[in-house]
Amino acid sequence: MNAPEFPPPLAAPSPLSTLDALPFAEGFAALPEAFYTRLDPLPLPAPYLVAASPPVAELIGLDPGEIGRAEFAEHFSGNRPLPGSAPLAAIYSGHQFGVWAGQLGDGRAHLLGAVVGGRGQWEIQLKGAGRTPYSRGADGRAVLRSSIREFLCSEAMAGLGIPTTRALCVVGSDAPVVREEVETAAVVTRIAESFVRFGSFEHWAARNRPEELRRLADYVIDTFRPDCRAAANPYDALLRDVSRRTGDLMARWMAVGFMHGVMNTDNMSILGLTLDYGPFGFMEAFDAGHICNHSDPHGRYSYQNQPQIAYWNLFRLADAFVPLLGQAEIAQAAVEETYVDAFESRFHALLRAKLGLLEAAPGDPEFFAETIGLLHHQRLDFTQFFRALSHLPAIAGDAGADAPLRDQFIDRAAGDAWLAAWRVRLTLSPWPDTERQASMRAANPKYVLRNWLAEQAIRRARAKDFSEVERLLACLARPFDEQPENQAYAAPPPDWAARLEVSCSS
Ligand code: AMP
Ligand code: MG
Repeated sequence: MNAPEFPPPLAAPSPLSTLDALPFAEGFAALPEAFYTRLDPLPLPAPYLVAASPPVAELIGLDPGEIGRAEFAEHFSGNRPLPGSAPLAAIYSGHQFGVWAGQLGDGRAHLLGAVVGGRGQWEIQLKGAGRTPYSRGADGRAVLRSSIREFLCSEAMAGLGIPTTRALCVVGSDAPVVREEVETAAVVTRIAESFVRFGSFEHWAARNRPEELRRLADYVIDTFRPDCRAAANPYDALLRDVSRRTGDLMARWMAVGFMHGVMNTDNMSILGLTLDYGPFGFMEAFDAGHICNHSDPHGRYSYQNQPQIAYWNLFRLADAFVPLLGQAEIAQAAVEETYVDAFESRFHALLRAKLGLLEAAPGDPEFFAETIGLLHHQRLDFTQFFRALSHLPAIAGDAGADAPLRDQFIDRAAGDAWLAAWRVRLTLSPWPDTERQASMRAANPKYVLRNWLAEQAIRRARAKDFSEVERLLACLARPFDEQPENQAYAAPPPDWAARLEVSCSS
């Protein structure tokens, strides 16, 4: 018999928790009861795990090994309470499609509480786990299709380095849910530092309840933006912070061709996160006026309108801040003096990075406009164009090196003229090719969540094959890497997907 090892091997204590021991804290529920209604999720019949994100489990301090347990789907369907959680649905209001919509609220979302995780404190929310007092006649459910889309896109955006709510998992059920067609139910578990929206503030301003408005602003400042407390006027500092972050977010969306689709004020995060994934899309054949949401006939939320719409939404938030700031002029100035600069400076920096320009130079805005014009007139695939450009040498050599880009041009002469102008622009701030190309590839993703990719994964998932969701998740987690094995995911839509439409229905 071997002697036992002494002392026994040492292992660092796992900082990660099991499902039963997640350290729940109050989080949003620290606010008074007027801000929410406590209620339990509605059980989901015979839930099964569709997909989960191990990095998000780690983010909230949950051992990813727990994903494999049968209890996992039970907990994240809402069927079995997580010890320490205290579910609630939050109230908010908002402007939808430019019109005041009055009270909305979490119509199908249950906030379970906040977990003090590996990195920071995270609210955990189930979406699709049944009706709440804010459901307004709707069923409180979400379908498998929209849940997979939200799950994949949250993680794709995180992979792109864009501020977003995250998604832990999707749990499905065969329970029918009626939309345009009969689909099946699912619950997506979302994670964010906070789900507070512009509309959460608009709600109390519209109800003429300055006390609650102040409580909410104080909660956001003290919990997430303590630096604002030191400012001469903390509420003014908070509004400026939201404005800057929103400008930054719009620049990041535009630079990857992301379209949210429903930029209502109730879908705008007070922390500047991408929030509420519905009929979103990524630009493929470039059209500046592209409308990704089939339910938006006038294109209020088209690609090119997004920065202006976010600005409009910030003015609605500024209106809501007037009781805190005393004067409308002060609230408006907080937005006016921050947003445009935050958006433009970030957008121009991102465009320079995409084009491989080391420094700003006079004439850049004109060159950017020329580039967008080229994309638009030639209907170039947004992602493929910039990715192909990232491989090109600064000095025109043999035609073969340029072929991956030139082959995308319909009007070769116009494309070549632009390429020549780009090369002239590169000479203004010399940068060795290999370094520039590596930097461009870190700015121009090869992989984005194209609608056809999501659709393909959804079709398989409906047949209970979840492998495509998993493979896409892994691919989109590192969108700047070449991943030759996933080359097919970098392609524009195949014929079967040419007419895919996405609506608000979810
Ligand atoms: P959205 O357009 O998804 O941001 O939703 C706007 C409002 O409608 C929010 O208050 C949602 O909670 C609510 N809502 C959307 N779909 C449903 C549903 N199926 N059941 C209950 N409420 C819903
Ligand atoms: Mg919403």
